[in-house]
Amino acid sequence: MQKNKLFIVIPCYNEEEVLQETTNRLRIKINQMIKNNLISKDSKVMYVNDGSKDNTWEMIKSISEKDNLFTGISLSKNRGHQNALVAGLLTSKKYADIVISMDADLQDDIDVMDKMIIKYNEGCQIVYGVREARKTDTFFKKNTAESFYKLMSRMGVDIVYNHADYRLVSKKVLNEFERYEEVNLFLRGIFPLIGFKSDIVYYNRSERFAGKSKYSLKKMINFAWDGITSFSIKPISLILSFGALLTVFSFISILFFLISNSERNNVIMIVSIISLFSGINILCIGIVGEYIGKIYFETKRRPRFIIEENLLKTK
Ligand code: UDP
Ligand code: MG
Repeated sequence: MQKNKLFIVIPCYNEEEVLQETTNRLRIKINQMIKNNLISKDSKVMYVNDGSKDNTWEMIKSISEKDNLFTGISLSKNRGHQNALVAGLLTSKKYADIVISMDADLQDDIDVMDKMIIKYNEGCQIVYGVREARKTDTFFKKNTAESFYKLMSRMGVDIVYNHADYRLVSKKVLNEFERYEEVNLFLRGIFPLIGFKSDIVYYNRSERFAGKSKYSLKKMINFAWDGITSFSIKPISLILSFGALLTVFSFISILFFLISNSERNNVIMIVSIISLFSGINILCIGIVGEYIGKIYFETKRRPRFIIEENLLKTK
């Protein structure tokens, strides 16, 4: 039976209220998985302190001194959940065969980790944790979150519906992930882009057992906006289409009134001429935008392809 060295990466921002309990529960879980031969004995939990203002980092240090199963890194300042995750993923990549990312508040069901690892053993390189129901979310959180996933896919961003950042990724995936050097990272969009065999495990998301959500409405809106603008140039294409439509309609309406030649329609005529020029304006902005869109993708320098297998090498 193969044994995988697992790292569990957990970004923490002001999480002193939950850290001890999370540590206790994860200790039990990891020991159980080691006993079941799912993971190797040197597997670890890596806490990423994201510039917390409370005692989070002191707690992480003392936890890791007492117990080898736990370790941590600390960022120089608060850089947000996604950046903290990237820091954890890229640091643990050096030591681990597989990495699972999750939140500090245990909202993600840690008991589906076994299923994730079994799927990895079956050949999956990415296993997405997907929420089955949102019974415990407030009406507001459920609706804003679900519209977010719908809007993202309308905007052409390929994301897994109802998947947050609870996922298993292999070292192979992380090596490719490192090649995505963009600064505005939206992880939920990047991993589906990387490809490889992947699967989904379902779980019920519970309530935060202590402390408050670190995602304010403002942070949520910023996050959604970041996701769209880091992955899609659909908004630019919409401008172009709108400009084109307005131009065509105004043109038709001018023609129509010229032909009908009725004096009563002078006002409509003037409005149509004005909107023809606005249409042309918007159209031009849209065309310039399309070029900016191309530059935007060029600057990301994303890998153009990823080779999964090469027969030349293996023979
Ligand atoms: N988090 C972080 N930096 C931030 C905000 C949040 O590292 O600036 C972490 C936080 O400690 C938690 C995870 O991101 O482990 C998810 O945050 P939270 O549970 O508050 O979000 P929610 O579940 O309400 O969406
Ligand atoms: Mg949470």
